[in-house]
Amino acid sequence: MAQRTRTALIVYAHQSPGSFNAALRDSAVQELTDQGFRVTVSDLYAMTFRANATRDDISGDLRNCTLFQYGEETMHAWMEGRLSDDIVTEQRKVEEAELIIFQFPLYWFSVPAIMKGWMDRVLTQGFAFSMDKMYNHGIFKDKKAMLSFTTGATQTMFRPDGLNGDINVSLWPLQNGTLHFCGFQVLAPQIFWSPAHCPPPVRAAMLDGWRARLKGLLAEKPLTFAPCELFDLSFQGGFSLWPKVKEDQESQPYGLTTGHHLGKPLPPDNQTTAPPAEAPGAKDS
Ligand SMILES: Cc1cc2nc3c(=O)[nH]c(=O)nc-3n(C[C@H](O)[C@H](O)[C@H](O)COP(=O)(O)OP(=O)(O)OC[C@H]3O[C@@H](n4cnc5c(N)ncnc54)[C@H](O)[C@@H]3O)c2cc1C
Repeated sequence: MAQRTRTALIVYAHQSPGSFNAALRDSAVQELTDQGFRVTVSDLYAMTFRANATRDDISGDLRNCTLFQYGEETMHAWMEGRLSDDIVTEQRKVEEAELIIFQFPLYWFSVPAIMKGWMDRVLTQGFAFSMDKMYNHGIFKDKKAMLSFTTGATQTMFRPDGLNGDINVSLWPLQNGTLHFCGFQVLAPQIFWSPAHCPPPVRAAMLDGWRARLKGLLAEKPLTFAPCELFDLSFQGGFSLWPKVKEDQESQPYGLTTGHHLGKPLPPDNQTTAPPAEAPGAKDS
């Protein structure tokens, strides 16, 4: 029987082919191809990918013309095959990929607008999540995703005592709120601190380190998040931690995750480092 080709998708956002981000993308393409992956790159600026989520994403009649609700309308358009071609093309790439790498320069503690637009428009309700299928039960629970990004700031600026504050806090919305919400196993982010202010040998070492990590990437344990089972998933229960879980957590020195800190110190490096196999606290999902 023919073996299924493994596919990786790199969603890439940088305007310049001479950038460090371009070099990182090229290294990933080369390394993953060498490992036997079919690698697809969505080069968002080159594609002039549209960032804004609008009525133009849907063909045919709307369900509610008086109050346009993008989420509702695109969910129905997805079910009925009425989403715009550029979205459908990206959704096919997501479906085929077992690994998705988002490669970008950090903009305002987040992804550039064009990449945020990719998330807004491609991760349609129904296709990427539903009220029954989210977080550890999410639609993409058999896929891996990771953020690989460069910064202007140094690493010390993004420490808990640094000027910008803890990078783990900055990463929580993207990694938990978007990627893990859709079910992805989120691999630890690859962060390239301040490449523009590094001497060339340091940048060369960063590229070497990236290639080395890519060799074992698929074998890595993902980051930990709080599984749905810890919560009373009802409106009555407020989608809050079960009382028993809360009680059990009282004796723990740290919060469960960066977001579910329960008023305690954040679990160190929760959004930047995958824990060892037997780590206490939040379970793998
Ligand atoms: C709108 C906006 C918002 C921003 N917000 C933030 C923020 O919130 N936090 C933050 O920290 N930063 C922020 N930044 C800064 C931004 O994240 C950095 O400028 C960016 O990450 C640098 O990456 P780059 O690929 O553009 O670097 P480049 O400037 O392209 O590259 C750095 C150096 O690497 C060299 N290089 C290229 N290819 C190679 C190669 N193959 N080998 C070795 N060297 C190579 C280049 O020649 C250059 O000298 C922001 C920037 C903008 C424009």
